[in-house]
Amino acid sequence: MRKKQAGFLEVIAGPMYCGKTEELIRQVKRAAIAKKHVQVFKHAIDTRYGKAKRVYSHAGLSFLSERITKASQILKKLHPETEVVGIDEAQWFGDNLILVVEHLLKSGRRVLVSGLALTFDRTPFAPMPTLMAMADKVTKLSAICVLCGGEAIFHKRIVKQSNIDPLLADPSLVGRSDAYEARCRICFSK
Ligand code: ADP
Ligand code: ZN
Repeated sequence: MRKKQAGFLEVIAGPMYCGKTEELIRQVKRAAIAKKHVQVFKHAIDTRYGKAKRVYSHAGLSFLSERITKASQILKKLHPETEVVGIDEAQWFGDNLILVVEHLLKSGRRVLVSGLALTFDRTPFAPMPTLMAMADKVTKLSAICVLCGGEAIFHKRIVKQSNIDPLLADPSLVGRSDAYEARCRICFSK
């Protein structure tokens, strides 16, 4: 039986390559070692590793996960005994994720949400700003700027495409590490 506890939301946010998935995996592995019941969800749009039932970091760490296309599927797939819920690439779930996270928190679960704080053109990426505001803890990570080695809080799309809407996923580019680069404030406009 799951012990009744206060919910807790940690949001892990930053640009591509900053280690969001790595941090999510680190935390869920620790929860599993503590014998907590853990479920991790990722968006099916991310086909970096085919249809694998795991989340993978850029450096190859992985953890078991369930692929979904809508935030509401989290509640449908949730096991009653689950105590820790990880949600990777949260930016692809839209604002519906906010209600789902609120529900998970009300039911006393620990929720770990990782996602891009900004799009590749530096627009706040919903629902991340709201989740960051609601969170008990926000872990904001930076990557390494590929041009100068400084702290990169942005990622920039480096392939040219027409009709780009940075708020919509381009399935052909999701997770393609040759399409985006981590950049610092100074190097973003280079
Ligand atoms: P995210 O989920 O934020 O995209 P990941 O957790 O998947 O990041 O991957 C983080 C790993 O990516 C780092 O540990 C490092 O090995 C690798 N990496 C590749 N490029 C960079 C970069 N520019 N800055 C930092 N780490 C990078
Ligand atoms: Zn730089």
